[in-house]
Amino acid sequence: MTKRNLIADVLRLKSEKNALILAHNYQIPEIHAVADIVGDSLELALAARKATEPVLVLCGVRFMAETAHILNPEKKVLLPDSDAGCPLADFLTPGMILEAKEKYPEAAVVVYINSTAECKAVSDSVCTSGNAVRIVKSLKQRQVIFGPDTNLASYVQSVLPEKEIIPIPEGGHCYVHMQFDTEDLKEVKTAGISIMVHPECPANIRVHADHVISTGKMAEIAKTGSAWYICTEVGMLDRLKELCPDQSFIGLEDAICADMKKTSLQELITCLRDLTGEVIVPPEIMEKARRALEYMISVP
Ligand code: SF4
Repeated sequence: MTKRNLIADVLRLKSEKNALILAHNYQIPEIHAVADIVGDSLELALAARKATEPVLVLCGVRFMAETAHILNPEKKVLLPDSDAGCPLADFLTPGMILEAKEKYPEAAVVVYINSTAECKAVSDSVCTSGNAVRIVKSLKQRQVIFGPDTNLASYVQSVLPEKEIIPIPEGGHCYVHMQFDTEDLKEVKTAGISIMVHPECPANIRVHADHVISTGKMAEIAKTGSAWYICTEVGMLDRLKELCPDQSFIGLEDAICADMKKTSLQELITCLRDLTGEVIVPPEIMEKARRALEYMISVP
């Protein structure tokens, strides 16, 4: 079947099932083409929270589908590829958080949205790469246990020296954002190209950035220049080209998140046709995790 036919099938099934398709920026362009909303984790979470359709299809990874279900529990939330996970989220367990809380009883706990529902349930707040600084700043506690991304933790610490960020676990990282090279960035700079870096990149990469920002903000900032080097997952280059076709975006072709590339049009068709891949967060986890997510959403 041609790509055009597959896209037509997805759109027909989407309408038949009254489904809303939410796709992360890192998904393949064909998935962007059929999605109602394309965005970063926060944009998808907020769109899922206010969705009125009975079926929400999350083209992304598992924690995103869990978040959608927590924020809008009446809906049927589907993840087209049930194996699409996030190796960064897998670094952290609720046991690690509880252990850190015992060691630092005065500290607040903030988990990155890239974490399991169980971890969110034992935390005070969730954050995204775009609002992590704001969330940590909003807390009255000086000490903040923060996981699972040590790079995002070090970024927040660099912006908020008045806080003591306690990163957990040791070495938590996203392998995709660890692949950038400082020598490449120096060459890019010399060629007059501006650089945007995702805060999941380590400090030696962030130091070369013109902007350290979430993928959601990259689309806005892109309009302020004509040529950009993008330090994040390679799918963001496709997304930026869709949004700003007259501008030039380069990055690292090898910075591929294998889990984000698992969702195909064919899988999406099966998921919509048979309503498979439902993600259900147990009620006792859901209530507690929702408190942490709603705190994040409440911070202006
Ligand atoms: S790019 Fe990294 S943080 Fe994002 S889903 Fe993939 S492994 Fe997780």
